[in-house]
Amino acid sequence: MLPPTIINLLYVAASILFILGLKKLSRADSARKGNLISAIGMLVAIVAALLTADILEPQWILLGLGLGSLIGVIAAFKVKMTSMPELVALFNGFGGIASLLVGWAEFIGFGQSSEKLSLVALFALICAVLIGAVTFSGSLIAWGKLAGIIGGKPMLFRGQKFVNILLLGGMLLAGYFILAGSLSSSFVYLTAEDAFFLLMGLSLLFGIMVVISIGGADMPVVISLLNSYSGIAACSAGFIISNNVLIVSGALVGASGIILTSIMCKAMNRSLSHVLFSGFGSGAGSSTQSKTEGESKPISSDDAFLVLEAANNVVFIPGYGMAVAQAQHAVKELADLLEQNGAEVNFAIHPVAGRMPGHMNVLLAEANVPYDQLKEMDEINPVIENADVAIVIGANDVVNPAAREDPGSPIYGMPVINVDKARTCFVLKRSMSAGFAGIENPLFYKDNTRMLFGDAKESLSHLVSEFNTQ
Ligand code: NDP
Repeated sequence: MLPPTIINLLYVAASILFILGLKKLSRADSARKGNLISAIGMLVAIVAALLTADILEPQWILLGLGLGSLIGVIAAFKVKMTSMPELVALFNGFGGIASLLVGWAEFIGFGQSSEKLSLVALFALICAVLIGAVTFSGSLIAWGKLAGIIGGKPMLFRGQKFVNILLLGGMLLAGYFILAGSLSSSFVYLTAEDAFFLLMGLSLLFGIMVVISIGGADMPVVISLLNSYSGIAACSAGFIISNNVLIVSGALVGASGIILTSIMCKAMNRSLSHVLFSGFGSGAGSSTQSKTEGESKPISSDDAFLVLEAANNVVFIPGYGMAVAQAQHAVKELADLLEQNGAEVNFAIHPVAGRMPGHMNVLLAEANVPYDQLKEMDEINPVIENADVAIVIGANDVVNPAAREDPGSPIYGMPVINVDKARTCFVLKRSMSAGFAGIENPLFYKDNTRMLFGDAKESLSHLVSEFNTQ
């Protein structure tokens, strides 16, 4: 309908909007604007793609946009903040299956036409199907782990690496048969069609195998890696159908996912190969973990208030429990009261706190916590000794001193926020149970730690009302 030059100009405009959006997404205070700019870019890209000759009539485009927007809006309102990480994992999976379906559709179309696909297009098709299938099945497993449907610990069995190598070998061989069978009709061992379905099946299985063997505190790396894979699969799909904006947007997602993966690996102090092949948090590692001895010391809200009233320097350390309790507004209220009382207040954010990258930043931004109060782990650790009170709100793994002190611990070597070095540490949680990595936390038994048991929001609200009645 529109001349190709106009379509390409719209694609360039969409790509620029994606890049601007990404730039703004890198800062908490401009992230909302970044999201909006990227969404407008996506709208331009979709409309331009669908307006290319012989795809769709405008009324169908409008119907699709309406339906898609409706589903998006309902999902955005209905999905609880605590279920966001699962939603992100599913989105990665959808990206993977979309690329796989593009590859599949093109393969069918190619089988029915007399024209041969170019070597580049065939190679892209194999990549889209392989990476798309791995992303799809891997993301479903990650979703199951985050939703608690599948156990969070790595599932390992004897000969797993060997099975994975066999699967990988089978996938490469199937890819070779697709190429050979498509380029030469005289090929007899395996038809390109059989090889295609073999590749799809093996890749789906490989995605499951890779993600079941990773668990515990390593999950953030898997999520960001799957995010990157979904981009690479989309980029490959763009090459198959010669769609420039899909190539550019896929490459942007792929590259930013890889950057995020490397940030997550750094946050865990682990190499990517170690995460992928070591079965982190497996029984082997945890069996040598030192047994935690001693007794935890509970504290009442009334006593905690008295300590806080006298504090000059307070650091909040939020974790997944803050998201569960939806305690971000109560934390902000308490922080304001502490400031009015003359205390310096900061929030220490661990890169893997919560269940998705940036989880805590999103929640605290929602509660209007000033950005200059948000301190990264590297910034807060050197000065945490100056804190009179470190208040841990539903965090567990990210403040576990075993990562520093116990070489037998599965999280040994992972940088954590050193809350045990503050003068006093309050831990707000409901019980003594473990966090996502499923390991004991010696912090709860330290001399300077006091456990404030209960739902984090209720405990914080109690402290707020104590301040207000003074
Ligand atoms: P953890 O999962 O280690 O601990 C959360 C704690 O919150 C639990 O111990 C729980 O204790 C407590 N809690 C739950 N509900 C409430 C409530 N209503 N009120 C008060 N406390 C509550 O969280 P962290 O943030 O410390 O660590 C994140 C973990 O998740 C890491 O292991 C990380 O690797 C992993 N992960 C992170 C991802 C990311 O991208 N950030 C993605 C996937 C996994 P109790 O039940 O006793 O209340």
